[in-house]
Amino acid sequence: MLQTSQLYRQLGIREEVLAFADDTEKQLKDRFAAIDEMAEYNQLKVIHAMQENRVCEACFNYASGYGYSDQGRDTLEGVYASLFHTESALVRPQITCGTHALSIALAANLRPGDELYSPAGKPYDTLEEVIGIRPSNGSLAEYGITYRQTDLLPDGTFDYETIKKEINEKTKLVTIQRSKGYQTRPSFSVEEIGELIAFVKKIKPDVICMVDNCYGEFVEEREPSDVGADLVVGSLIKNPGGGLAPIGGYIAGREDLIEACAYRLTSPGLGREVGASLGVMQSFYQGLFLAPVVSASALKGAIFAANLYERLGFPVIPNGSEDRHDIIQAVELGTPEGVIAFCKGIQAAAPVDSYVTPEPWAMPGYDSDVIMAAGAFVQGSSIELSADGPIKPPYAVYFQGGLTWPHAKLGILMSLEYLAREGLITLS
Ligand SMILES: *Cc1c(COP(=O)(O)O)cnc(C)c1O
Repeated sequence: MLQTSQLYRQLGIREEVLAFADDTEKQLKDRFAAIDEMAEYNQLKVIHAMQENRVCEACFNYASGYGYSDQGRDTLEGVYASLFHTESALVRPQITCGTHALSIALAANLRPGDELYSPAGKPYDTLEEVIGIRPSNGSLAEYGITYRQTDLLPDGTFDYETIKKEINEKTKLVTIQRSKGYQTRPSFSVEEIGELIAFVKKIKPDVICMVDNCYGEFVEEREPSDVGADLVVGSLIKNPGGGLAPIGGYIAGREDLIEACAYRLTSPGLGREVGASLGVMQSFYQGLFLAPVVSASALKGAIFAANLYERLGFPVIPNGSEDRHDIIQAVELGTPEGVIAFCKGIQAAAPVDSYVTPEPWAMPGYDSDVIMAAGAFVQGSSIELSADGPIKPPYAVYFQGGLTWPHAKLGILMSLEYLAREGLITLS
């Protein structure tokens, strides 16, 4: 017999936590089976895209200097285009993160006098400075690109009536964020995104529709590019990097728009012809290969956490039974002590830096102290098990990632253990 429970106890998890979690896990059997089916579907999709583009061993070779005819890079961009069913893609280590990828896509396809429109509320925090919602050096606003936004209705749905009025002759690009990020609105399904895009295009057919796809990849059968998005954008240290990509971002979409992105990323005149892949290609390919199963593991962790904390009486977003459109889980712990204990538990379960105690600190760009837990192989990688929470009401933690389901499970058990040690929960 496997001595799994004994190992859990060695790692510091008490019997009551194990028993409590075990009940919940048993109830999630069907749910987890459905996630495995999605992983199977997306795994086949990835393999098909790799075969279609004739990925070969030479794709993993080191390329340096200008990177002319970098086979690994060019083939990988073909793989992403096949995967997302788009004409083209830009997938590069020179795209430093998700914010950078989004910034390139916007700056490349907007010109002075154009207007950027967000029909689904406020975009991700870091985009506020890209756009110039918060004045910032080099923002789109400084280049004479204006911005408009329509908030969601109180029930979290699109305000179609207002959207119709806000789209005008200047509207050039519409941005839609799939995941809720650090907001409390629901994340959008690919189907909902498709409806919104169809509505927008009926009003103005030539408007460019861009989707911030961060945290959404491989959670559903379809991606936003399957329902009319002209551009989909994401980070490789989230879902599609599969935990192996050490850096990078992608932009997939219409050929002319991707070409503009390449000229913006490197230089007018050079475009995608330059940009050596410097030996990271194997991790990009292998990470993408693993990504469907890694994303499924993270998804199981999110659902497991939602169900456990819901059972303990904490508000959770999404709730334990809702359909999922991204891998993020918010838990409202209600007290600073709760947020801190949760994050300490996640940290204590990490393979790296497990002995470190996370503390709240004044992070640049935030208006309250923030605590972050991450013991990651890749700095800041949030497809790896991680949690963070601002120390302010409603004292919610945002929890995501887990390269394997057993690690996600251990992290969540450890968070319960730390809350139990502080007397913040009673298990029954
Ligand atoms: C993470 C994220 C970003 C920004 O990505 P970084 O890699 O952190 O710059 C943008 N949008 C959403 C929805 C995200 O989750």
